[in-house]
Amino acid sequence: MVVVMKNNLILLDEKGRRSDGRRWNELRPVNMAVGILERADGSAIVETGKTKVLAAVYGPKEMYPKHLAMPDRAILRVAYRMASFSVEERKKPHPSRREIELSKVIKEALEPAVILEEFPRTVIDVYVLVLQADGGTRVASINAASLALADAGIPMKGLVTAIAVGRLGNQVIVDLNDLEDKYGDADMPIAYIPSTGEITLFQMDGTMPPDMFNKCLEVAIETLNKMHEFQKEALKSKYLTSKKKTNS
Ligand code: ADP
Repeated sequence: MVVVMKNNLILLDEKGRRSDGRRWNELRPVNMAVGILERADGSAIVETGKTKVLAAVYGPKEMYPKHLAMPDRAILRVAYRMASFSVEERKKPHPSRREIELSKVIKEALEPAVILEEFPRTVIDVYVLVLQADGGTRVASINAASLALADAGIPMKGLVTAIAVGRLGNQVIVDLNDLEDKYGDADMPIAYIPSTGEITLFQMDGTMPPDMFNKCLEVAIETLNKMHEFQKEALKSKYLTSKKKTNS
């Protein structure tokens, strides 16, 4: 195995282990739960390793100011924010350029799945708060937001599932941590709707030789399907718990 080093950091060792001990196709430990906030219409928490993201959905509700409402559909509004304590050095609380851009990216990844035409003149607010960041916060946010939308009972074509794949030298890797995101050769966040096969987000930072591109995409789809299973489990476990509560 070719060792990949950057800035004196071993990103891939001779046994094919990554900086946190994972194999190239291994996810970090995943934890997902829905319905965790009582005041929101829908909510979810998603943890992938040290990355922890909370999502809350409010709506559909009347749009104010009214002139911003759309006569034939609801508006999906997304706010992605990082808590000041989510990164090593305190993040200034006001929304950064990156947070504004990621709010747009996440909204555009979710929008194709939501049946907005069912709720004309309304707004659906999605708030995503990064509690702890260690790479992959945009994909964790999409996973959490789509679960929170489902938890709120918003009709969708299907859940939106997201994952980042990337490259360390000539090795494809999945679910990049912060070090891999910063020092790896490429980072490719992808979101798709497993029930329809539509890709709703595709970005890339870094460089990717053409012959590795298809492999990356293939690995991404396999990994997305694994993440989708975790999302379905999270929804199912809320349903089973509430059923138990009703029975007792
Ligand atoms: P993503 O979190 O979707 O991978 P980026 O590629 O922009 O998005 O960020 C990669 C990682 O960089 C984040 O997950 C986080 O760990 C780190 N990061 C982002 N913003 C900051 C910040 N203001 N301070 C310290 N680390 C940050």
